[in-house]
Amino acid sequence: MTRALVVLGAVVVLFPVLIVSAVMGALSSLFGGGASQPSAAALSDIPAAYLALYRTAAGVCPGLDWSVLAAIGKIETNHGRSPLPGVHTGENHAGAAGPMQFLAATFAAVTAQHPIPPGGATPPSRYHPHDAIHAAAYYLCDNGARHHRDLHGAIYAYNHADWYVTQVLDQAAHYRTTMTTAPHGGGWVVPVQGRCTSRFGPRDGEFHRGLDISAPIGTPIRAAAEGTVLNAGPATGYGLWVRIQHPDGVITTYGHNHRNLTRPGDHVQAGQVIAEVGNRGESTGPHLHFQIDTHGQPTDPAEYYRREGIDVCNHHDT
Ligand SMILES: [Zn+2]
Repeated sequence: MTRALVVLGAVVVLFPVLIVSAVMGALSSLFGGGASQPSAAALSDIPAAYLALYRTAAGVCPGLDWSVLAAIGKIETNHGRSPLPGVHTGENHAGAAGPMQFLAATFAAVTAQHPIPPGGATPPSRYHPHDAIHAAAYYLCDNGARHHRDLHGAIYAYNHADWYVTQVLDQAAHYRTTMTTAPHGGGWVVPVQGRCTSRFGPRDGEFHRGLDISAPIGTPIRAAAEGTVLNAGPATGYGLWVRIQHPDGVITTYGHNHRNLTRPGDHVQAGQVIAEVGNRGESTGPHLHFQIDTHGQPTDPAEYYRREGIDVCNHHDT
């Protein structure tokens, strides 16, 4: 496939001055909520029919935010407005066609596996915005967007180029409102905003299994993602902890808590307050010990969030 070339051509023509933001973390606070609201920029730039399709189609993939689909639609064909060959008829030189620039074989494979909901062409057509945008949602979902498992990888699968992933994430962030009402759904949020005082990795001859985020006692600790509370109570070393089970074998742990505000078995949403920052257990000052285990293996939380486009250690609420 030579999609990279195709898209590069389109981008050079349409968006010569798209500036990659250096503060993606700040813009991505609501990333992947699946239910974010369009920003003023989105409302003025995206045709209403396309906006409705992006939002509807994202619903087929838990954890996929509509803004990612909209960003791809923007970068591929300017929401179907591009006059380039292969958008409305025919194919471009690489075989891509339609508003989401599908190759015939890819579109056939996706629609064979996932019946496109009614509302488009019969049979589904990659030129029909309804069909193309739904197929894109399924394609992203199959490649990692489901439950926000690997959004970067999903976008990379769409077009194998790191600059493309960065541009999509940046465009998506511009399309979302940055109002931080309590996020819902499958997205990841920063549990506590503060200074990272100790990173994941070797420390004093031991292995620090999490990330320490400094904050005053009583600061609300938010669930990093939707899930079910496994533990909430005393634990050796952690003082008072909360552990939450998420999809795909991921468990988050919140330690040294001053007070827990949830119970085992509770279903919590991303961003829901579950505890308060404290200084209990083996702790040398008020902070959150934040740990992410994937299938039992401790994972670097900073790296985990980076894959979601969020800088957990330099996060600013907007
Ligand atoms: Zn720690």
